[in-house]
Amino acid sequence: MQTAADRREALKAVYEQARGCEKCPQLAASRTTVVFGSGNADADLMFVGEAPGANEDKQGLPFVGQAGKLLEKLLGEIGLARSEVFIANCLKCRPPGNRDPHPAEIEACRDYLWRQIDLIEPRVLCTLGNFSTKLLRGEPTGITRLHGQAEVRIIGPRAVRLYPLYHPAAALYTPSMLETLRGDFARIPGLLAQPAPDQPEPVPEVAPEPDLEPMPEPAAAEVEREQLGLF
Ligand code: URA
Repeated sequence: MQTAADRREALKAVYEQARGCEKCPQLAASRTTVVFGSGNADADLMFVGEAPGANEDKQGLPFVGQAGKLLEKLLGEIGLARSEVFIANCLKCRPPGNRDPHPAEIEACRDYLWRQIDLIEPRVLCTLGNFSTKLLRGEPTGITRLHGQAEVRIIGPRAVRLYPLYHPAAALYTPSMLETLRGDFARIPGLLAQPAPDQPEPVPEVAPEPDLEPMPEPAAAEVEREQLGLF
């Protein structure tokens, strides 16, 4: 059982790796900072967005612009503070000009997100918008069909309640979408109150190959016979 302090330390170690990441040369060259994620390393509730924007890139924190303000407001409406949850993105670097993340970039960055989820062990994992929903479900079904429907999914070694939501940026200027998002948010406390999903049997570690039985030492007379047999 990991303590909150253990999780923080382990997350910091992943951050140390991510902050120097050069797996996507274009993003590494254009970013100001790596936006690893922020919040409570011991959170029951985690959000995964798409990628940092200009504000996030400058400040090194996810969801600090208009979409972030809306996310905080919606959290407040269900009685939660931002500091109680963990917020991350599919990509840790801002795509130049806020273009969509490329599939190769999402794949290159995936391991950081999986390690975050593995260390934080959230009970409820909210995807925000299409990119994180498709990535974490491993399927191309879009957010319009899936939002507001929780399902238990295996991510890495763990089962988690995945809860797809519209991206707050999409709801900023569309009042009907905002009301849908607000309604979906209202179900989060109920999901957090449910028992944690049953966990899959841990995959047993592959046992190392047993050492080969040492060959019995041949008796001295036998060695001699073999040697003699060479000539
Ligand atoms: N949109 C995102 O998906 N992530 C952020 O961090 C900010 C805006």
